[in-house]
Amino acid sequence: MKIAENKVALIDYTLTDNEGEMIDSSEGAGPLAYLHGAGNIVEGLEEALIGKEAGDKVKASIEPEKAYGERHEDMKQDVPKELFGGVENIEVGMQFQSETDEGPVLVTVMAISEEMVTVDGNHPLAGVHLNFDVTVREVREPTEEELEHGHVHGEGGHQH
Ligand code: ZN
Repeated sequence: MKIAENKVALIDYTLTDNEGEMIDSSEGAGPLAYLHGAGNIVEGLEEALIGKEAGDKVKASIEPEKAYGERHEDMKQDVPKELFGGVENIEVGMQFQSETDEGPVLVTVMAISEEMVTVDGNHPLAGVHLNFDVTVREVREPTEEELEHGHVHGEGGHQH
């Protein structure tokens, strides 16, 4: 069976950036299961996997625009520390949900000074070129429930 719209695929993958730095890998965790066409994985990787079947190896080099988007410097801003009133110890790397005009955005704390906290609303992988090394393990039909939920259940997918 070939990977196509609304098929379930199980893939082993290694993800590196252009410096060869490992970002993520399925090693140890077992294959990732995703529903093709449901936006479970980045657009560029879906495109690279169309038509592949179990046993195929795929190398995909994906531009930020087909992954997590470009970085927007204006999504980085300084906010007064008192806005974090409820948080005991703010640390670099912490993530918060921030309410904006365009809905909730996940922001990451980049720097902290005496009175201000610099937060960045960019996805941590925004602007990063993604290099995937993938082996397709299995391709199957989804269950009705998986189609309804828009994601895969069980091993490598959602556990609920
Ligand atoms: Zn579900």
